[in-house]
Amino acid sequence: MASCVVTGAGGFIGGHLVAELVDRGVDVRAVDVKPLDAWYQVHPAAEAAVLDLTDRDACRRAVEGADRVFNLAADMGGIGFIEGNKAACMLSVLINTHLLMAARDEGVERYFYASSACVYAADKQDRPDVDGLAEEDAYPAMPEDGYGWEKLFSERMCRHFAEDFGIATRVARYHNVYGPHGAYDGGREKAPAAICRKVAAAKLTGGDTIEIWGDGNQTRSFTYIDDCVTGTLLIADSDVAEPLNLGSSEMVTINQLVDLVEEVAGVRLRRRYLLDAPQGVRGRSSDNTRIRSLLGWEPTTPLAEGIEATYRWIHDDMVARGWGRGSSPAAALGTTA
Ligand code: NAD
Repeated sequence: MASCVVTGAGGFIGGHLVAELVDRGVDVRAVDVKPLDAWYQVHPAAEAAVLDLTDRDACRRAVEGADRVFNLAADMGGIGFIEGNKAACMLSVLINTHLLMAARDEGVERYFYASSACVYAADKQDRPDVDGLAEEDAYPAMPEDGYGWEKLFSERMCRHFAEDFGIATRVARYHNVYGPHGAYDGGREKAPAAICRKVAAAKLTGGDTIEIWGDGNQTRSFTYIDDCVTGTLLIADSDVAEPLNLGSSEMVTINQLVDLVEEVAGVRLRRRYLLDAPQGVRGRSSDNTRIRSLLGWEPTTPLAEGIEATYRWIHDDMVARGWGRGSSPAAALGTTA
């Protein structure tokens, strides 16, 4: 019988979380809507279930017999996806709602919800040299339209299920997580993976140009997947009921991110800036004061180190998929992020 359920387990963060839990000897039920052959990672030691968790009965089947739930399932992607699919992003509210109801009814003890830095108010992120976002900056609320509103609403749903039904809910606000075994093409990829793909494609095809969304001066902090998994488990195990930032505070411009990827790849490309492309807020980083003081921990993986591992995985995966000199350099430019 599973003691722990991870939803969104066929996705990027869920796949890594299942790996860590299995490593720690936990009985895991891994759940995702995608067919198994589309999961980024399948761990034989975990029970795998393909279920559409927008459906209430499916949620009941997913959590049956479990003590803990990690809800990482959501219809999401990078800024290009969330700006163009606001309704789809908001429909993820069905997943968290039905999962919480099922968790309550099945006597689940602890419930973790993967929220996002997209809950933060837009006016706190309107310049590149912003201060890190502190947890209280989510209110008064003016989050990212669509995706961010759904995350903020679902956070509050967790809070009220804790208050009214006694289920221990824990919430992390992830800031731009990146690493191997995630989307790097197809439209759902985020900036680090998209830039690694574009640089790798240029290298593999002999291209000399990279397209960048925006002017490249927008700032972000990027959180390596190992830190995300460590922080997720720390927050889930903690007695901190309020949402906590889970993000790196190493802020860089997108141009600096491209510099790093080029350095790892050993290439230098001409930059073409697409000023009309979606680019999200102007500046964003994580203020880690609260997680440091409450849990004595914060993400520490240097961006250069995480990007090296990410680039190598994406490059090698592209080679395995047949990318090479025969591929078109135009395809290297891609259309996203
Ligand atoms: P991902 O897209 O790789 O994984 C999400 C998974 O959820 C996918 O495999 C998808 O198939 C699954 N899913 C979607 N709808 C479902 C449904 N109806 N039933 C069952 N499964 C369903 O994304 P990720 O990067 O691994 O993100 C995991 C969680 O973390 C999400 O909730 C996301 O919003 C949140 N988050 C991620 C980041 C990030 O930078 N990656 C940042 C902030 C928040």
